Amino acid sequence: MAAQPEQASILSFEEARAVVEDQASRLRPRGRELLALLDAQGRVLAEPVHADRDFPPFPRATRDGYAIRASDLENLPVDLQIVGEIKAGGAPTGLAVQSGQAVAIMTGAPVPKGADAVVMIEHTLRSGDRVQASRRVAADENIVAAGAEAKRGDKLLSPGVRVGYAEIAVAASVGRSRVVVHAKPRVAVLSTGDEVVDIDVPPGPNQIRNSNTYSLAAQVQAAGGDPVSLPIAPDEPARLSELLLEGLDSDLLLITGGVSTGKYDLVEQELAELKAEFFFTGAQIQPGKPVVFGRVPCGAGTPSTSLRAGPAREGSGAYKSFFGLPGNPISTMVTFELFARPMLEALAGMLPRKLMFTHAKLKSEIRTRTGLKRFLPAVLSGEFERCEVEPVRWQGSGDIASVARSNCYVVIPPDRERMEAGEWVPVLLR
Ligand code: AMP
Ligand code: MG
Repeated sequence: MAAQPEQASILSFEEARAVVEDQASRLRPRGRELLALLDAQGRVLAEPVHADRDFPPFPRATRDGYAIRASDLENLPVDLQIVGEIKAGGAPTGLAVQSGQAVAIMTGAPVPKGADAVVMIEHTLRSGDRVQASRRVAADENIVAAGAEAKRGDKLLSPGVRVGYAEIAVAASVGRSRVVVHAKPRVAVLSTGDEVVDIDVPPGPNQIRNSNTYSLAAQVQAAGGDPVSLPIAPDEPARLSELLLEGLDSDLLLITGGVSTGKYDLVEQELAELKAEFFFTGAQIQPGKPVVFGRVPCGAGTPSTSLRAGPAREGSGAYKSFFGLPGNPISTMVTFELFARPMLEALAGMLPRKLMFTHAKLKSEIRTRTGLKRFLPAVLSGEFERCEVEPVRWQGSGDIASVARSNCYVVIPPDRERMEAGEWVPVLLR
């Protein structure tokens, strides 16, 4: 008799997310590498980046104008004597601003001693070596004090942040031409189903092409992992089990298809044979309700498998995690983003984060049945306070073309039968 999942349970979306977040918090990334700064874009920092000096290193003028004493400008108009000029990169050597004096200064230049503010050039009138100021300034105005942004030795970037253009700017500003990042996790992708054929094979009249392996591999890449695409598994226990074991060689295993309640949905059964522990076997969502999440103890398979020791095990403890994602292509995509992505990001060394969403006004009324939290492919248009969202017309979670016409998912809470046109609703960006 085949083993059955013992701890089968269907959770609410929030409960399922909490389980995933808890499991993700136990994961450790598997290694590090040193990369040239620009090559680190999209990768996860494995080291802190510190300020190598004060920022700014000198009191910096933030405007073109005149370095003056703010107290000299109390009674306007006032006429000051220009005693020098400092440009960006210039040194204020020997210059000291006394009462009644001004030094012409450019944005980015060091403010000379004695001056405590910069009056913008727009509020002055120069005539020879005299300048008249027509507006007061407060002390410290248009100056950033030395060390005000950061002190030498301050941590500017923490390990676990994903490197984007702002992080690259910080690293560049402290002279880091190379940075240490975490190794990308290897994520196995296993599609199942007798009806599924690969994309370079002409499909028979009742067969469909394998799109899930490709969409998932693309999602894995976008999330910062290295996809390992396995051959399609038939709905047959022995070969399926073999491929599951192969998939468990990677840091995370994503299976698609075979997790519904059909007679040939064998994935859970075969995982149970591998002593899998199931955290959930469904979530109250649409699309994607049959989503499965669990783990297999390392060493549970045959000795010739992945469950032997290897670099991929480093830090991930004595278990390998897996997701059984429903085979319907949109269910696969959505459940990856909702549940698999946080695990992948944790294996990539990323600090935990919440889903990225925005709010938009519903363009037209939506009616649904209650009970499931829905993530409907939709089109977000307009900007800021005028942004609107409308679900695309679709034929359900197998309708790949409809998701390609969408740019987001509109999120409908499980307790609403009807959402009015004009209501602000949460939107997950795609
Ligand atoms: P299943 O979850 O195995 O019951 O599959 C649900 C639906 O998704 C069926 O219509 C399958 O034909 C389809 N499907 C399963 N796997 C894939 C795949 N790799 N690519 C595209 N469609 C798939
Ligand atoms: Mg199937």
